[in-house]
Amino acid sequence: MTSKPDQQAIALLRENRLRATGGRVAVLATLLEAGRPLTRQQIADRLGGQAPDKATIYRALRRLVDSDLVHRAFVQQRQWYFEPAHRCGATQCHPHFTCVQCRRTDCLHDVAAALVTLPDGMTLLRQQIRIEGICASCCDN
Ligand SMILES: [Zn+2]
Ligand SMILES: [Zn+2]
Repeated sequence: MTSKPDQQAIALLRENRLRATGGRVAVLATLLEAGRPLTRQQIADRLGGQAPDKATIYRALRRLVDSDLVHRAFVQQRQWYFEPAHRCGATQCHPHFTCVQCRRTDCLHDVAAALVTLPDGMTLLRQQIRIEGICASCCDN
């Protein structure tokens, strides 16, 4: 039986004319299921015993990023966090909110930000917004 995130991953790969290799399906399905950005290590940890080797995860991620199916969301403690791009617009990703106390990061899918106006001569390809603050559960403590 193929799981729902697997099926969604296979469909996204096909829409983007990428072969649904085991590594790509595993990485993309893990990111879809997580619902929040993950590092390479976190992807491997979530896959557990059935994880492809590190080189396969690395190659799959690079291909998915090159194809714009996965975005590098942000860097934290020198580690990239990756997430599926299917809920991002053509020129803008949804903002990310990181709590400076518990370090948890949330995707703000329903928060819209205006695109910046760039000086002449600069072309905007993609706007990514990262917000730092204190989350609701840390505020309560
Ligand atoms: Zn917090
Ligand atoms: Zn996100």
